[in-house]
Amino acid sequence: MLADRSATELEAAYFKDLALKNVHLGLKAMERLDRHTSFKVGGPAALFGWPKDLEELRRQYLFAREHSLNVFFLGGGTNVLFSDEGYLGLVLKLEKGAFKESVFLTKEGDGIPEDAGFFATLKEGDELVLRSGAGAGLSELARLAASKSLSGMEDLAGIPGRLGGAVNMNAGAGERQVGDLVAEAEIMDEEGEVKSFGRNDLAFGYRAFKSPVKEPLITSARLRLVKAASEGEVVERMTRRLSVRKISLPVEPSAGSFFKNPPQKRAGELIEEAGFKGRKEGGAMVSMLHANILINLGKATFKDVSALARNIEEEVERRFGIKLEREARMVDFAGGVNV
Ligand SMILES: Cc1cc2nc3c(=O)[nH]c(=O)nc-3n(C[C@H](O)[C@H](O)[C@H](O)COP(=O)(O)OP(=O)(O)OC[C@H]3O[C@@H](n4cnc5c(N)ncnc54)[C@H](O)[C@@H]3O)c2cc1C
Repeated sequence: MLADRSATELEAAYFKDLALKNVHLGLKAMERLDRHTSFKVGGPAALFGWPKDLEELRRQYLFAREHSLNVFFLGGGTNVLFSDEGYLGLVLKLEKGAFKESVFLTKEGDGIPEDAGFFATLKEGDELVLRSGAGAGLSELARLAASKSLSGMEDLAGIPGRLGGAVNMNAGAGERQVGDLVAEAEIMDEEGEVKSFGRNDLAFGYRAFKSPVKEPLITSARLRLVKAASEGEVVERMTRRLSVRKISLPVEPSAGSFFKNPPQKRAGELIEEAGFKGRKEGGAMVSMLHANILINLGKATFKDVSALARNIEEEVERRFGIKLEREARMVDFAGGVNV
């Protein structure tokens, strides 16, 4: 009997039917999102697309637009938490197939011969471009660059997630941010058309990115790298960075730094001074190692994390008059982010 079924059940049935009727699109219905985020919380996505190339991505994206569905772009999910109810729309994950491919190009954008000899002819200070799909792992790209003695990415090694997410977040560590390296980005617009934008069309700020496209879906980017004196130099810097990260970051599931650092003081110091280190809310806790990292003790829910984050925000504002801004993206059922 229809009347006996809950709204959630009816929604699930509707989206399962929609995915089945459009089986050629390769969409999954009711895919659990805790499996796709590093914090490991989140209910099901009504629809989930994991396209292997641009064509499949375009078909899935346009389908959602035709059906007026919310769409969320996902990379590695290392900076995103989805609500316990899930996501009423399409989650598009760019993380496989053609989106993982990388190629080195000359500064002018020409292809480079496959034989390793070419890299040996480069002189210190020569520039090269690494063109990579949005789904390539940032750490893998840093290692690839290092293997060719190319400098630029070594400080970014160890930041989890994918290139598209890193560009969108302008992810960074130490003095280096991804945006410093981006020479060009290819972006799909709301009509499914992919356009190239050069450096001057793109704006990068502190964990922020802007492009001429309103809802930018980054499909690939070109990163500018510089030949270092030796491979050893790049690898040594990368190894140093990785060992610092290893001892300063908690091992439990997290989304990395939860709040942006306000201009006055580091968010972690404010949270610690407000007495929140080790504070728990259900299964979520403020890490003892790093007060700006909220962790999942195993059974955290989105609700637990929201409550903990809100308590921190209120107390920091009450004590210090500083409004913390979230770096992590908390996405609610209807697609609202950090609302
Ligand atoms: C242990 C840990 C350590 C971390 N350390 C750092 C650090 O040192 N520095 C730092 O900056 N961050 C850090 N982070 C946060 C996170 O790893 C970065 O923000 C990362 O760049 C996010 O990439 P992602 O692919 O996981 O993006 P996701 O989490 O999937 O998405 C992040 C945002 O980007 C958008 N997005 C994703 N892909 C695309 C795309 N192709 N086109 C358009 N928009 C897209 C999403 O909609 C979302 O708004 C850390 C996280 C963890 C868990």
